[in-house]
Amino acid sequence: MDETTIFDKVISGEIPVDLVWEDSDIMAFRDINPQAPVHVLVIPKTKFRAFSELKHAEAALAGRFITAVSRVAEKLGLEENGYRIVINEGKHGQQTVQYLHAHIIGGKPLTWPPG
Ligand code: 5GP
Repeated sequence: MDETTIFDKVISGEIPVDLVWEDSDIMAFRDINPQAPVHVLVIPKTKFRAFSELKHAEAALAGRFITAVSRVAEKLGLEENGYRIVINEGKHGQQTVQYLHAHIIGGKPLTWPPG
């Protein structure tokens, strides 16, 4: 069964978001619960439930997703000081929305390692 997620509803326009970037392949919008001064989510319009499903994707599609993340980070002005990309996967990865998304987090020095 294919569960409809919050991000399906973002793509359909049912849930409004603070949009940062949109093109035919992706949407990027601000996280509703930001963990840093800049916290943006990037989602492909083609649905994958998790990063682990990307292994079934055409390489060009996966590549467009990754290059979009890089472009959005530049547009957010994060390149000078750097940023972090996070993709949470599954239960141990603390993935809460079952629709592939990359977090772009920045705007301050970040700590490492993650918990
Ligand atoms: P995950 O834990 O699955 O990697 O991240 C899901 C992210 O989606 C969380 O950071 C959460 O704050 C964000 N989120 C959940 N619901 C909404 C929403 O309705 N709008 C936006 N903009 N972000 C959301």
